[in-house]
Amino acid sequence: MDYLPLFHRIAAKPCLVVGGGDVALRKVRTLCEAGANIAIVAPVICQGIADMADEYPGLLSFFEREYCQDDLNNVVLAIAATSDQPLNASISAAAQQRNIPVNVVDNPQLCSVIFPAIVDRSPIQVAITSSGTSPVMTRLLRGRIEALLPGNLGALATLAGRYRDKVKTLLSAENKRRHFWETVLDGEVAEAVYAGNEAQAERQLLAQLETMAATADTQTLSRGEVYLVGAGPGDPDLLTFRALRLMQRADVVLHDRLVSPQVLAMVRRDAERIYVGKRAGDHAVSQHNINALLVDLAKQGKRVLRLKGGDPFIFGRGGEEIESLAEEGVRFQVVPGITAASGCASYGGIPLTHRDFSQSVQFITGHKKDYSLDLNWAGLALPNQTLVFYMSLVSLKDICTELVKHGLPSDTPAALVEKGTTPQQRVIISDLEGLAEKVAGLKVRAPTLLIIGHVVSLQNKLAWFNTERIESAEMGASE
Ligand code: SAH
Repeated sequence: MDYLPLFHRIAAKPCLVVGGGDVALRKVRTLCEAGANIAIVAPVICQGIADMADEYPGLLSFFEREYCQDDLNNVVLAIAATSDQPLNASISAAAQQRNIPVNVVDNPQLCSVIFPAIVDRSPIQVAITSSGTSPVMTRLLRGRIEALLPGNLGALATLAGRYRDKVKTLLSAENKRRHFWETVLDGEVAEAVYAGNEAQAERQLLAQLETMAATADTQTLSRGEVYLVGAGPGDPDLLTFRALRLMQRADVVLHDRLVSPQVLAMVRRDAERIYVGKRAGDHAVSQHNINALLVDLAKQGKRVLRLKGGDPFIFGRGGEEIESLAEEGVRFQVVPGITAASGCASYGGIPLTHRDFSQSVQFITGHKKDYSLDLNWAGLALPNQTLVFYMSLVSLKDICTELVKHGLPSDTPAALVEKGTTPQQRVIISDLEGLAEKVAGLKVRAPTLLIIGHVVSLQNKLAWFNTERIESAEMGASE
C-alpha cells in the first residue's frame, strides 16, 4: 500500500489553496462540499471561484496577492494549484516541514496526500485512487462504481443510522443484530428506499424489528451455515459470482494450501481465517478435526466458508465434509469451482477432448496409497482418450512407465502444467518417454497437473496464456 486511505473531517477547519485558476477551482469545490474554511491566495482569482462564495456563503476568503510562508500558519491542509512549478515545490516543502498535509495538483511526487476520485452517496462515500499511476483507470473505475450503486444509497444509510441505537438496545445478541441489518439492507426495506418510498421503508423496518425482537435468541443463533465453495485453480477471475458473494458474507473461513492468496484476499476483510492445510514439515489438521470444526463453528451461529481449491467435489474431500454436516443437521450449500483439469487445460492451450484425437477424458489421482500406485492401468492405457492426473508430481515417472508397459506408445504426447492459471504457470511438453527427465531438470513446484494424450500436440498452436514462460521452460530444458 503506497497510501493509507482515510476520511478527513474538515468542516470549519482552515485550509489554504494557492492558485486562482480552473485547476484550483476544482479543488475549492470539493473542499466547499466538505465544509472547509478556505483561504485562497493568488494574484488573480478567476470568476468561477469568486462565484462559489455565493454558493457556499461564509466558507471562502480571498487574498489577491502573492503567496508567502505565513499563509501556512494554522492550516490543516494545503493545496498548491499554480502553474509555477518551483512555487508549487516550495509550498510542498514548507508544508511538509511543518507536517501539514499537502497536495500539489498533478504532481504526485510533491504530494503528501492525494485526492481520490469520489463516488458520493453521502453518507456513503467511495474513494478511488491509482496512487498517481493512472488517472484514466481511476476515472473508468469510478464510472463503473457509479453505475453499480443505487442513487438513493445514501438515504438508506441515513435511515439505518437513525435506528442504529434502537436496534442495539432491542437486539442485544450480535448475531441477531447482524441478521436484522442484512435483511434490511439487502431486502424489501432497501428496495423501498431505492424506489423513493422512505415512509414505507421505515414502516417495514419497524415491523421487522418488532418480529426479530420477539424471536428467541436461540432461534437465530442456530442459523449458522456452511458454504463449501470451490475457489478454482488460482486466477481469482475464475471464481463464480456465487462464490464471491458467499466469500463476502462469511464470518470465518477455513482454507488450505491450494487456495491462492489472490483469491483469499477477496474474502470479507474482517472474517476470521483458519488455515487447515499442510505446510512443509508441519502436520495438517486431520480431516476428522476439520469436519468437527465446521460443525462446531456453524452451531455457534457462524457463517462458515470452507474454501477449497478447484472444485470441492473433485479430489477435494468435499463430500466427506458435508456428510458430517448433514448428519448433524447443519445447513450447507455447495458451490462448484473450476477444477484444475479445466483451468490448466484452458490456460495451457490443451483441449481435453477433440474430435480427431480424443473422445473421452479421465480424471485420476496419482497420489500413492501405501507407497504404491494402485490403478487400473489396462483401463487407462487406451487409445483416443485423454488422461488427467491430479497429485502426480511425485509419481510422475512411475505413471509414464506403467502406461507404456500397459500398451500406450512411448511417444504419446504428455504435458505437465505447473501452477496453472497463475502468473507463474509453466507448461512442460514432452512424451511419455521423456517427460519425467525433462521435468527433473526444471525445478518444478506443486501444484502440477499431468495431461496425457494426442490433444497435447495441439498445445504449440493453441497456447495463449503466459507464453513467454513456456519458452523459458523450453530453453531451460535444452541447457
Ligand atoms: N479439488 C481440486 C483438486 C484437489 S487435489 C480441483 O478440483 O482442482 C490437488 C491437486 O490438484 C494438485 O496436486 C494438482 O494436481 C491439482 N491442482 C490444483 N490446482 C492446480 C493448479 N493451479 N495447477 C496445476 N495443478 C493444480
